Amino acid sequence: MSGTGNNRSPLLVARNIKKVFGSGDGEVEVLKGIDLDLRPGELTLLMGPSGSGKTTLLSILGCILGQTSGELEIAGHPTKGLSPDQLAKLRCEHVGFVFQSYNLFPTLTALENVMLTLDVQGGYVPDAEGIAAGALDAVGLSHRANAYPSKLSGGEKQRVAMARALAGSPSVMLADEPTAALDASNGQAVMALLAEVSKDPTRAVLAVTHDHRILKFADRIIKIDDGIIASDDNTHVEHGAPPVAGSAGSSAAAGNPL
Ligand code: ADP
Ligand code: MG
Repeated sequence: MSGTGNNRSPLLVARNIKKVFGSGDGEVEVLKGIDLDLRPGELTLLMGPSGSGKTTLLSILGCILGQTSGELEIAGHPTKGLSPDQLAKLRCEHVGFVFQSYNLFPTLTALENVMLTLDVQGGYVPDAEGIAAGALDAVGLSHRANAYPSKLSGGEKQRVAMARALAGSPSVMLADEPTAALDASNGQAVMALLAEVSKDPTRAVLAVTHDHRILKFADRIIKIDDGIIASDDNTHVEHGAPPVAGSAGSSAAAGNPL
């Protein structure tokens, strides 16, 4: 049985993460003490109103942004005391990002965009092209390998972005509103892919979303409000099944707005 009672060691551990922007009178505490574990084989959705700190949290969890205080451990590696170079290495080796805006290089083909991840990881990768091609195949886009982003639909671009993230074999995949710019069917396809990717027992996936149509893909739903975790439905939501009566996430799973 997967999901319920997942006792595998977490791939990401965050403890009492706080983030303050600005200084003096302009100081704003955007994250107010976030505790979070992401376990392998799970798709966790992060929901919350605009401005509640979702992107800030994802950026910190992915070592793009430093926290003001609190501790973070990724794939068993504490980030405390690491230099910027060491943090970048940890990020390259263990974290894959997917952004709402795809962030593909317009002058590179789909395949080259995916291969770029392996370049950035550093060191010689014997079969970079083969790995990149395999990642494109995993998202169903082998036939678009030589296309430039301008020739791809939004859904295809997001799938290339997912292939790029997957090519680096990340322990933790972080997606920030990956379906927000997509129509319903492309959005469903991208979320189904994220759910599939999260079934890999060596990987944890955290995706920010506002889209209630994709709750059915989630193993877990966390709600954040004004920089704190308002609820954490840790029970396994069976795909397609009604929520467990009385569980913390039942209102979300029933489609209530935040
Ligand atoms: P969300 O992704 O949930 O919409 P964000 O994490 O982007 O929220 O932002 C949370 C709050 O932090 C917002 O009030 C935003 O204006 C503020 N904020 C985000 N980044 C910065 C920054 N670099 N400097 C100052 N304030 C910021
Ligand atoms: Mg955001």
